[in-house]
Amino acid sequence: MARTSLQCRECKKEYSTAFKYICDECFGPLDVKYNFPAITKNTFTNRDHTYWRYFELLPIEDKSNIVSIGAGMTPLIKADNLGKKLGLNNLYIKNDSVNPTFSFKDRPAGVAISKAKEFGLSAVGCASTGNLASATAAHAAKAGLPCHVFAPSNIEMAKIAQALSYGANYIAVDGTYDDANRIAAQIGDSKGIGVVNINMRSHYVEGSKTLAYEVAEQLDWQVPDQLIVPVGSGAMLNAICKGFEELQQVSLLNNVANMHMIAAQPHGCAPIVDAFKKNSKEVIPVENPDTIAKSLAIGDPGDGRYVLKRLKQYNGFAEECNNQEILDAILLLAKTEGIFTEPAGGVSVAVLQKMVEQGKIDKNDSVVCYVTGNGLKATEAIMQVLQKPKIMKADVSLISAVVN
Ligand SMILES: *Cc1c(COP(=O)(O)O)cnc(C)c1O
Ligand SMILES: [Zn+2]
Repeated sequence: MARTSLQCRECKKEYSTAFKYICDECFGPLDVKYNFPAITKNTFTNRDHTYWRYFELLPIEDKSNIVSIGAGMTPLIKADNLGKKLGLNNLYIKNDSVNPTFSFKDRPAGVAISKAKEFGLSAVGCASTGNLASATAAHAAKAGLPCHVFAPSNIEMAKIAQALSYGANYIAVDGTYDDANRIAAQIGDSKGIGVVNINMRSHYVEGSKTLAYEVAEQLDWQVPDQLIVPVGSGAMLNAICKGFEELQQVSLLNNVANMHMIAAQPHGCAPIVDAFKKNSKEVIPVENPDTIAKSLAIGDPGDGRYVLKRLKQYNGFAEECNNQEILDAILLLAKTEGIFTEPAGGVSVAVLQKMVEQGKIDKNDSVVCYVTGNGLKATEAIMQVLQKPKIMKADVSLISAVVN
C-alpha cells in the first residue's frame, strides 16, 4: 500500500498521489493523508539534525529522492531575558532564521523539490515574496534542476542577490505578489513546471509541519499553551496545526486541543486580522500591500479562510502591528536574546507583546514565538531606526573619547 494519498480539504474525496493539487469535484485544495507506521519517541532519537529525521511523517516514498541542504532542527531558545521584559516565565523562540538559506522556507521548498524529483519533473519554480526564491533556488541547485522565480520587483536586494547566486532564472514582475503568483500559476501549468507553492502546494505545506514536530520534540513531547505565527498566505500556520494533530494521531502527544494559535500580520497587509476582528469567515484581499514586512505582503492569502478556521478551532487571536512596532520589536529581540530577525520576525514579537498587554497570555503559559527569517536579508528597512556609525579618524585620543 502506498504511504500517502491526497484528500480534498473540502469534500474529503481521496485521490492517489500524483502531480495534482486541486479537487476535480469541488476545486478544494488537496492535502496529503498518510498511512502512518507505528512510531514511538525513540523512532527519532539519534537521527540527523535536519527535518528529514521525521521521514515517516513526510510525503516522500523513496529516501533516494530526498534533496537536503541540511535545513531544520533549528534552535528552540528559552528566552528568559525577553520573557522578563514582557513578564513571561516560559517563553521560547523557535529561531528558524538560521536555516541554510536563512528562513523557514527551506522546509516547504525542500519537501516540494524532493517530491518534484520523485515525480520526475524537469524544472521547478516558485512565486515568492522574497525568501521562497532563495529556498527554492538553493534546493533546485542541489537537485540539479532549473528554477524559475516569479517575484514582485520591490523585494530586498539581499534576497535577490541570494536567489541569483543559486542560479535561478529570476523574473521581477512589475506588480504585486498576487500578480507574480497568477503568472507563475499559468506558466507552471502550461509548461509542466513544479511551482513549489502553487501546483506542488499539497506537498510544499508538508515541509512546514516540521515546525510543529521539532517544537514538540524540543519540549520533550509537550504541547505549548500559546503559539505565535507570522502569517502571509497562511500555509505555515495551517501546517503547524496539522503537524501537532498528526503527532497526536500517532500517540506522541495529547491535549493538542488545548493549544492557542495566534496569527500575526503587519498593518498595511493584514486581511486575515481584519476578517478575524469583524468575525467574518471571508478574507477581503488587500489590493496594494504596504508594509516593511515584505515577506508577509500577500494581499490575497491562499489559506486565509483556513487560518480563520484554525483560530476558531484553537481558541486563538489575530493581531497586527505597524512598521514602527515591527522595528522596535526587531531591536528588542536582538538586544535581549542576541537574535537578529527580519521584519516578519519583528511582527511575531510585536504581536506577542500586544497579546501579553491585552491579557490574552498568562505569565506562566508556555509560549512559542516563531521567528522565521534573518535580519541580514532586510538591512535597508532596519537601518531606518539605527544610527549609521560616523567615520572617525584613526586617532586613539579622538576615539577613546567616545568609548565610555
Ligand atoms: C513566507 C514567510 C512567512 C509566511 O508564511 P506563509 O506560509 O505564507 O503564511 C513568514 N515569515 C517569513 C520569514 C516568510 O518568508
Ligand atoms: Zn473536493
